[in-house]
Amino acid sequence: MLTTRFAPSPTGRLHKGHAFSALTAWRAARDTGGRFLLRIEDIDPTRCRPEYEAAILEDLHWLGLDWDGPVRRQSEHLDDYARVLSDLEARGLLYRCFRTRKEILDAIGDAPHGAAEAVRPGPHSADEEARLLEEGRPFAWRLSLDRAREAIGEDAWRSLAFTEDGAGPNGETGRISVRPETAGDVVLGRKDTGVAYHLAVTHDDAVQGVTHVIRGQDLFEASHIQRLIQTLMDWPEPRYRHHPLLTDASGRRYAKRDRSMTLAELRNSGVSAADLRAELGFSSGG
Ligand code: GLU
Repeated sequence: MLTTRFAPSPTGRLHKGHAFSALTAWRAARDTGGRFLLRIEDIDPTRCRPEYEAAILEDLHWLGLDWDGPVRRQSEHLDDYARVLSDLEARGLLYRCFRTRKEILDAIGDAPHGAAEAVRPGPHSADEEARLLEEGRPFAWRLSLDRAREAIGEDAWRSLAFTEDGAGPNGETGRISVRPETAGDVVLGRKDTGVAYHLAVTHDDAVQGVTHVIRGQDLFEASHIQRLIQTLMDWPEPRYRHHPLLTDASGRRYAKRDRSMTLAELRNSGVSAADLRAELGFSSGG
């Protein structure tokens, strides 16, 4: 049975692009007798606001969507993410990174491959790390791709792949070889909040039994590193279905900053949910 989800971050009002994404996942579940889950990805207290969460629920109800089971809020599961981080750390797969964003960007600027180089600052020396810890400086936990590669072994590393039922931005489809290098040594535990997106999203997809990750093409590249995390944690492999991003009349992607296109604005200007669903291609039966 298919289980999928819509996983917005409550950092602004939903716009047409979100409606399309939510309807795509919901339709896939309802057409096959599967499950559609709603997850609020609110691990970043500096950007997420409860009023946006309330607005998301209101907008989705208005659109006519229903979901199975209770809404999952990531902010209520921080201990679970911390446990995964400790596990990865105990296995030697993480390192502390005290560097600031600016220090990292400066270092990349000096590197031979310039900005195309993914961020892989590497661990600090033991002395430096001890000193920075002593000084109480904040640090992030980064996943070491070198250690991850050793941990799963060369053969498994080379055959890492995920299945794309939709398409990536360049038409990538079918079995896609994973290239974790493109993501670099990603941060899995942020300096400020303790957890980062890739860790929380893969953890939750696993514990919620998500079999199909249906989301916008802007997250296609994220699947590479997410598949690696699933492998390291021995979590089940979901299938992926990335859908094209909706664009406005001038070909620009809808974004949270475009207030005019929020679902609330559309609703206030007299657009009905049925009109919007029809415009987005979801008229039949829903
Ligand atoms: N919370 C993410 C976002 O709003 C989506 C996560 C996902 O679908 O994997 O962009």
